[in-house]
Amino acid sequence: MTDQANRRHDTHGQVETALGRHLERLYPICRSISGPGLRETLDLIGEEVELQRSSIPTGTEVFDWTIGDEWSIRQAYIESLDGRRVIDFERHNLHVVSYSTPIDTLMDVDELDRHLHSLPDHPDWIPYRTSYYSPGWGFCLSQRQRSQLTDLRYRVVIDSTLEPGALDYGEAVIVGDCDEEVIFSAHVCHPSLANDNLTGVAVAIELAKRVRSLPSRRYTYRFLFAPGTIGSLAWLKMNPDATRKIRHGLVLTGLGGPGELVYKQTLHGDASIDRAAGHVVSRSGGSIRTYSPWGYDERQFNALGFGVPVGRLSRTPHGEYPEYHTSADNLQFISVPKLEQALDTLSDIVHILETDRRPVNLSPYGEPQLGKRGLYPAVGGKAASDAVLAMLWTLAHADGKHSLLDIAEISRVCSFEQIQDAADQLQRGGLLGPAPSRAPG
Ligand code: ZN
Repeated sequence: MTDQANRRHDTHGQVETALGRHLERLYPICRSISGPGLRETLDLIGEEVELQRSSIPTGTEVFDWTIGDEWSIRQAYIESLDGRRVIDFERHNLHVVSYSTPIDTLMDVDELDRHLHSLPDHPDWIPYRTSYYSPGWGFCLSQRQRSQLTDLRYRVVIDSTLEPGALDYGEAVIVGDCDEEVIFSAHVCHPSLANDNLTGVAVAIELAKRVRSLPSRRYTYRFLFAPGTIGSLAWLKMNPDATRKIRHGLVLTGLGGPGELVYKQTLHGDASIDRAAGHVVSRSGGSIRTYSPWGYDERQFNALGFGVPVGRLSRTPHGEYPEYHTSADNLQFISVPKLEQALDTLSDIVHILETDRRPVNLSPYGEPQLGKRGLYPAVGGKAASDAVLAMLWTLAHADGKHSLLDIAEISRVCSFEQIQDAADQLQRGGLLGPAPSRAPG
């Protein structure tokens, strides 16, 4: 399902992809869990895929949380008394703590220092800090910049507002044959950070386009672009009917950074999405982790009150690479080929969800004669013997209870694709029935 149409060559002859372009357009925006940056982000996503937008007003109760005031930031800087801006939000979105309250005052450097955040171990990186749920203000800067604040007093300005407004989210819904749903969720609340989580957003956009271009779909697909935690909780609060229809889901994040793919299982690790994603990710060289109540919005979907089976696809998870939540998580940190691999992996997972079935062996009394039905390859070689092996595995377990994915997993050697090809061939040869029907679970 590689999308050649989305590639073009730039002036340097480099292959430029839609994924890379989404990252470049979204990276400069100063996002937060509410406010103009979030809306601008949804506007850009909406240029790529049709989005249904929702605005949940300040003060709305969402389960144990309340939608807070909306945050807007116009400018923020630390200025020397002779008018030199030593730290300026204009230069980097991360310089101001997200949700900082307004301030405009002269301040002793000792007092200012209590509001500064830097990373001594990475003296050139700016950390990312937020203050969503406890009012306060602060600046983030590199350790090197901090060490240059040698004046006794500075002017400190944060021109921000925290006022009643709304929390925004957007969703692209692609209708299928039934109203059972698959949900993909990517958080859209981080300012200029690339891996976390513009990679999740970019891949979700392109996956939505691929799903939309499928000739037919069994499931209805929902792509949710919402601020982390409070945004997914707001969606869950506003959409109890849709929540009940979700059969499979994935949170997408950190797909362009270091390492192979990592699939984090749902709460009990026994959902169909665990099987499908586990199969594809482990065969691509990635790894599987069990559920933990720490992470992204999978924590909300899997909560006991909802019990929605949502796993998570990433590469090296948050907090396990030093660039996480720092200015070093920038566009240069991202590998676009890795994003493409993640997108292909997701396409393969969707393919399994869409096409898995439970076939029945119609000739179960011993091994059927493949040759007389034209199913035995005339030419030998590894591909031919693999194909025969896949047919034998399929016949061995096609009892109407095991799905194609079950059989692939039992064999330990065949991919879903190989078992599916084998089943299609056996079906054409009259050895397997019934016709493709509903997927298991
Ligand atoms: Zn984050």
